[in-house]
Amino acid sequence: MNSKLRVWHPFTQEALDPAPLRITRAQGVYIYTGDGRRFIDAISSWWVNLHGHCHPAMMAAIAEQTAKMDHVLLAGFTHDGVEELSQRLRKVLPRELEHIFFSDDGSTAIEVALKIAVQYWQNSGRAQKQSIVALEHAYHGDTVGAMSVSDDSIFNDPFRSFRFPVHRVHSAYCYRCPVGKTRASCDIDCVEQLARLLAEKHAEIAAVIVEPLLQGAGGMIVHPVEFLQRVRHLCTQHDVLLIADEVLTGFGRCGKMFACELAGVVPDLMCLSKGITGGVLPMGATVCTGEIHRAFVSDDRTRAFYHGHSYTGNPFAAAAAIVSLSIFESEPVFERIGAIAKIHRERLAAIANHPAVGDVRSIGTVAAIELRADDAGYSSRLRPKLYSFFLDAGVLLRPLGNIIYVLPPYAITADELHYVHDRIAESLDHCEEWSKPASAAHSV
Ligand code: PLP
Repeated sequence: MNSKLRVWHPFTQEALDPAPLRITRAQGVYIYTGDGRRFIDAISSWWVNLHGHCHPAMMAAIAEQTAKMDHVLLAGFTHDGVEELSQRLRKVLPRELEHIFFSDDGSTAIEVALKIAVQYWQNSGRAQKQSIVALEHAYHGDTVGAMSVSDDSIFNDPFRSFRFPVHRVHSAYCYRCPVGKTRASCDIDCVEQLARLLAEKHAEIAAVIVEPLLQGAGGMIVHPVEFLQRVRHLCTQHDVLLIADEVLTGFGRCGKMFACELAGVVPDLMCLSKGITGGVLPMGATVCTGEIHRAFVSDDRTRAFYHGHSYTGNPFAAAAAIVSLSIFESEPVFERIGAIAKIHRERLAAIANHPAVGDVRSIGTVAAIELRADDAGYSSRLRPKLYSFFLDAGVLLRPLGNIIYVLPPYAITADELHYVHDRIAESLDHCEEWSKPASAAHSV
């Protein structure tokens, strides 16, 4: 028996993975270990950090909050933090999204959206509209509803039996086109499957959920904007709600404040988290149209939305989120985003024809390189080799199997970002060796 209570680390196979590195300090794009090593946090600490670690204004806002108020519940009470944050978000969200429901993280923002969608139809007298449509390669989180709408994967395989059934339709994964087209010859034919499904079953479908333009954990898959536009059009045509999961894509990640903006699309529900607080404290939020909210306002108590997490609307998280949004105004954040996007495009173009590379893709601050591998997928042999190679070079990257991606804080400098791309370019020359099964690798 252990005398210590030992931390059980997420996404870690203790028997195979290196021991976790103990981080003692974080500043800007760097995280530091106590023994003096430093790493460029090139994935923004699981896609949350926007302005760099320990941004002084963010730290000051949190410190200031300590003098005012700690956590108070949000049922029957409100506070300046969530009220001000809501007004600031109102300025950057599509005008049609008029109500905000706070929760704790990305997964709970998804649970809330799914439950609002289903209860909306129930409250509107159309209770048969219950089922959800989700995309292949989707990832929406680790709670049960979020796992259900996520596609089958190593992440949720043990829980197959209690994920609820959903309609699964093609995503626009152009490199592995589900309908055998090439981008040059296609007319977004992959969306036809959704079109047929909605034409046939719209009477029982509550909502379609998508990660707009960028599917993250499923492989950093970038969709053509037309795909999202067509999905929006089909949802409107068939009276089905569109849920946009902007948990990853929101707050500038894809080049605009929200990915939906790039396609000129307004969803009925939008899920926010990760970057909402600049990546400093946990917070989730689900925003929806006035029409959806109206279906919950009634003199009938059973129509209320009975969902609430203990830390919903936490004042410290709200303070951080307010400052993060003000940094978008006080600092040239979108210029930084544009500069990152340009470097990504140039560096990807330079390696696109390397024999180890199958596909390169980028959107805004996210760049991905899909490596050729006979064991493509999250458990690819390439993954641990790449991970260690990058750490040894002082760069934190967590490839999704055979897919390397870069998703840095917006505060990264050109030199730092080039350093990351240089290491990736170097790694490509090792991929042939690393992709061999262990016995074959030793025999040569
Ligand atoms: N939705 C998307 C698109 C995500 O990428 C994630 C997490 O990576 C989630 C939802 C779940 O967020 P969280 O991990 O905060 O629960």
